[in-house]
Amino acid sequence: MSSPARYRCTSCGNLTRFDVTSTRRTRSYHHYTVGGELSVEDEQVLEETLESVECRWCGAAGVVEVLDESVDTAVEG
Ligand SMILES: [Zn+2]
Repeated sequence: MSSPARYRCTSCGNLTRFDVTSTRRTRSYHHYTVGGELSVEDEQVLEETLESVECRWCGAAGVVEVLDESVDTAVEG
């Protein structure tokens, strides 16, 4: 897993609360019991597209900047 990006709202200084909208493509191991109960394991994020990040307090009016954008491909381990 790569470390997640950090955000900061430059409007109010918020560092901890954001509404993040993203599209993810994942691969995971679906493990069913005989009774049909599902547990999802080993989820890998193959692709993630960030659509929007909004400050929880300012909403669309807030200006959110990315502090640490992980652009590099994640090293699988
Ligand atoms: Zn804000």
